Amino acid sequence: MSSPLARPETDACPGALRLHDAADGPLARVRIPGGRVNGVQLAALRELAEEWGDGHLELTSRANLQLRALGGAPPARLAERLAAAGLLPSPTHELVRNIAGSPLLTDPAPVTALDAALCADPALAALPGRFLFAIDDGSGDVAFSADVAALPSGTILFGGRDLGLRAPAGQAVPALLAAAHAFLALAEQNASSSGRRPWRVRELTDGPARMAACTAAALGVTLLESDSSVRRQALREPIGAIPHRDGRTAVGALVPLGRLGGDALRTLETARALVITPWRGVIVPNLPAAEADAWMRKLAGAGLEVGADSRWAGVTACAGRPGCAKSLADVRSDADAATRAGSGLPVHWVGCARGCGSPAGPHVRVEATGTGYAVARKPEDDGRAADLVPVAEVAAVIAVLRKG
Ligand code: SF4
Repeated sequence: MSSPLARPETDACPGALRLHDAADGPLARVRIPGGRVNGVQLAALRELAEEWGDGHLELTSRANLQLRALGGAPPARLAERLAAAGLLPSPTHELVRNIAGSPLLTDPAPVTALDAALCADPALAALPGRFLFAIDDGSGDVAFSADVAALPSGTILFGGRDLGLRAPAGQAVPALLAAAHAFLALAEQNASSSGRRPWRVRELTDGPARMAACTAAALGVTLLESDSSVRRQALREPIGAIPHRDGRTAVGALVPLGRLGGDALRTLETARALVITPWRGVIVPNLPAAEADAWMRKLAGAGLEVGADSRWAGVTACAGRPGCAKSLADVRSDADAATRAGSGLPVHWVGCARGCGSPAGPHVRVEATGTGYAVARKPEDDGRAADLVPVAEVAAVIAVLRKG
């Protein structure tokens, strides 16, 4: 068993320039800050997937997009094409543009401003590829899984905790950048003293509190009383027509197993703007109410799920076989066979104990073992032996465990 100290200094998160050598060929992960992408960019990605990959785009748990099986892609041409589409604005910072945004954020300008400021700060290119910023709309849907997050009230959360830092109106971006610098300084101290360089704030001893104190000192402000009303909210998976306060409408759809193929991509490309969600969904935002029905029909016709009663609501899976060499099963195929309509806790299927893409909050984990699936509630059942069940019985066990 490897020692924690044996972990490499640098995380190995794939990117658009640093491709991952997956079992089905090179994999590129394209950062999509806040999940915001437009139809022209999506078309550019589809063309790349059709020309050099497996013809699909994969949605990740951070609302990024992946191209798989890029065996024929010349890396330099791939980078050029992504840059031309505005999807690779900074070669030096491409791995650190990890910005979660609430999918229903009515004004995405803070996401764009944070992305630009991050890319303009040379020192922050040293952030780990796993460090996550969030711009939350106050619903708490993305803030609590981030290393540092801004809420509309000005509250800055560190590792999901309110430690009393308040950014004045319009100052969230400088506060988030100061927090990232604080993390880098603390990570450096940790690497010097213990030989281990953390990738996330929770890996630092007393990380959120120390990061908040350093950030406040850098900004020249005092930490206030924390606000205990700031709490993690239940998962919000936008499906169907969602009215906005301004009279406009968003239409949300689930992408079964997080894979978008040609028909769905060609349909989505006709939208002016799109939002990829961390729950493997896609939203067409800011529609005049009269267009919402037409979009519901178009998305459903392209194989996406627009009904809240979809069997895919709350269900996600990692890549599994054949894309991942570590996988002990074709989890997507097994998930397709075993998924029934249901409600309650989210369900995440994984091909091995690494658990890639697992939801941050409570969920049911269905893990391939090579001799069936270990099904357990997480984090509640951590440390307990999970039920080991053959694939034919997984659906029934999931139904019970989802009820929480
Ligand atoms: S959880 Fe395991 S099988 Fe699934 S993608 Fe990660 S490493 Fe591969």
